Amino acid sequence: MKSLLQKIEQLEASSRELDPPAQQREKALKLVQQFSESFLSNAHLEKGYFNNGDPMGLGINGQPHELNDLLEKYKNEISSNGIQAASAAHLGYIPGGGIYSAALSDFLAAVTNEYAGMYYASPGAVTVENEVIEWLKEVFLFPSSTVGNLASGGSIANLIALTAARDFHQIKKDKIERSVIYMSSHVHHCIHKALRIIGLEDVIVRELELDDHFKINSHELEARIKEDIALGLYPFLTIASAGTTDTGAIDPLAKIGEIAHSHSMWYHIDGAYGGFFNLLESRKKLFQGIELADSLVVDPHKGLFLPYGVGAVLIKNKEAVFQSHHYTANYMQDALGSFNSLNPADLSPELSKHFRGLRVWLPLQWHGVQVFKDCLEEKLLLTEYARIELERIGMLLGPIPDLSVTFFWHPKGDEATAKLMELIHLDGDVFLSSSVIDNKKVIRVAILAFRTKKDTIDRMVAMVQRCLTQL
Ligand SMILES: *Cc1c(COP(=O)(O)O)cnc(C)c1O
Repeated sequence: MKSLLQKIEQLEASSRELDPPAQQREKALKLVQQFSESFLSNAHLEKGYFNNGDPMGLGINGQPHELNDLLEKYKNEISSNGIQAASAAHLGYIPGGGIYSAALSDFLAAVTNEYAGMYYASPGAVTVENEVIEWLKEVFLFPSSTVGNLASGGSIANLIALTAARDFHQIKKDKIERSVIYMSSHVHHCIHKALRIIGLEDVIVRELELDDHFKINSHELEARIKEDIALGLYPFLTIASAGTTDTGAIDPLAKIGEIAHSHSMWYHIDGAYGGFFNLLESRKKLFQGIELADSLVVDPHKGLFLPYGVGAVLIKNKEAVFQSHHYTANYMQDALGSFNSLNPADLSPELSKHFRGLRVWLPLQWHGVQVFKDCLEEKLLLTEYARIELERIGMLLGPIPDLSVTFFWHPKGDEATAKLMELIHLDGDVFLSSSVIDNKKVIRVAILAFRTKKDTIDRMVAMVQRCLTQL
């Protein structure tokens, strides 16, 4: 007994290191704050891309280190290498966000460590998450019986939605090989990935050809569905995009929805990039019909400028989601009770769950919604401005985009465009990325980083001009 107590005492002294006293906390917080202030004071000027080679010295050797040294390493090896996602000058792929109020929310969520998987465990945290879902239902005009979940991003959110579609239509066994899914050839690759993960890689996928604005042609969709029905196949799912990654195109959502439902199919819309532009009066028309979706994905870590780590899914049919995600276990019997609120764990593959609802809820409550709308509208106008400027310096442009992604190419064609892209990446002042659209090499400009302002666009154009002189 005595030696047991002695050992406990020893271990207690050591394990208290994990729970530092107020003075130490304050000191640590100050260091982190100094770091983040120095990072943020530069974020609007920072280059969009650094190529500093492979990160060094990040291995874990099991020994304790000074926080100061670790922050130094964070600065040199992590935060100033690669694409600067928090900088104004990230105009490649689909830029993410990183607003400060969301960072503070994450800090609070981690300090209090709310368990956001079950209502029983944390009624407040789960209610916050469910209130975010309620708000999304209002924004997208979904009925009140809709359920939803905050997942880690658009990929997992799409996976949850497609699983519900699969289960609703009972796509299994010999039904798999005669079941058909329709989608744009510009659909995000995470859709294909999700289908493979959920055991649907052998279903028939019809990738539809696009019109000259890169949208699904609804007549072709209808014709293909009818052909497939005549062949004895089972069309069960149509996927539309509300903002494709390549060109930001919004498919004709209302028409596609009517067609899908007239054939009793599940209608899924991927709005991971574009969804939140629906908040704007100026774009409402393009989103007409979004409310017809059986499931919808939007990414707050894109369109609401939050840091990476949150994508949302709305699904109208609760039973379809429950079929694959609702489980009970003996050790969880206390959680069963009769609670009115839904448990996030019943709607997602996750059980223990980061309280990611707070990083959506707190910024929306703190700033109000209007500033988010203004920031989105600003991005649309900056896209218009960027096109005018790129044309002025002699670049050829893709069609006027629905949203904030546009593309250009060099009048001399593929080879010159590829070389220009290379020079732009070497320059790195503003980060752009390339794609192949209509069999043509193009350079994309995707404007969604909340720090991107008019002066960023001027920098981008100056950079392209600089690179053109080196061609
Ligand atoms: C980004 C994106 C995805 C994937 O979402 P993640 O949050 O990166 O997992 C899916 N669809 C579209 C249209 C996207 O832009």
